[in-house]
Amino acid sequence: MMLFVDKHAVHAPAVFGTAVEAQRRTRGLQGVGPGTDSRTLWDRLDGETRRMVLDKLLREQGHLCVYCERTIGTGRSRLGAHVEHFLPRHPSRDEYPGLTWTDGRDDLPPAEADAASVDYANLFAVCSNETGRDGLPLTCDKLRGSHRMALDPRDRKALRRLSYKRSGRVEPADPDDETVWDDIGRGEGDTGLLNLNARHLCNARRAAIARLLKLLMSAGDGRAVDAACEREIRNLLAERDPKEPFIEAKLYILTRRESMRAKYSDAYPA
Ligand SMILES: [Zn+2]
Repeated sequence: MMLFVDKHAVHAPAVFGTAVEAQRRTRGLQGVGPGTDSRTLWDRLDGETRRMVLDKLLREQGHLCVYCERTIGTGRSRLGAHVEHFLPRHPSRDEYPGLTWTDGRDDLPPAEADAASVDYANLFAVCSNETGRDGLPLTCDKLRGSHRMALDPRDRKALRRLSYKRSGRVEPADPDDETVWDDIGRGEGDTGLLNLNARHLCNARRAAIARLLKLLMSAGDGRAVDAACEREIRNLLAERDPKEPFIEAKLYILTRRESMRAKYSDAYPA
């Protein structure tokens, strides 16, 4: 759960920078700027530019939601996608008191949120799940809204704070890590910010892990299983689009195997 995204390796599409600069100029002419404009630069962008940014994010993430790791996209999958701002465009002063707030104006996005709204490293593709339509509970950023999160998909070390169970559940590596519980939720009514232990997600994750274990089992004896494990790890780590859903959960399970741990623990949480 929670896909690692290496933002150092990627760049924003060129049109994005051009469109942002145009909006910055327009705003200047209107006499407002960071910290005084009620709209962030992202809010001012046209739909076509936003769509191009989403397309590029989707390709870089192998068409997986950064939080739930389900396949997302435009048209070719059931789950829609949209752009998530990790530092929210419109944060609350309560949760982000350290930002540069305009005195007495909690409705104006602080300068940092304005800058981050068009900082490509702050943007992720996420699923557009909706409650009601399919009767499933909300997850991911639809639930998170603008609340402050502890886990950061850009920080591989932070993702080591997660562990994956054969039951399909995701839990903190340290069971007492309350900040992780607060992000992912415990399930059964405790949603946390992302509701990653929602029953439908656990079921899908459990099925994906079960398929993987069955594949390894069918390999035969110990050494053949090692080889199958390694093949699967390399397969999952390859730059692919689309990537396999629940890729981090699968990598976690595979790298738990003693023979894989030494070799891949640097590449992946073990
Ligand atoms: Zn999601």
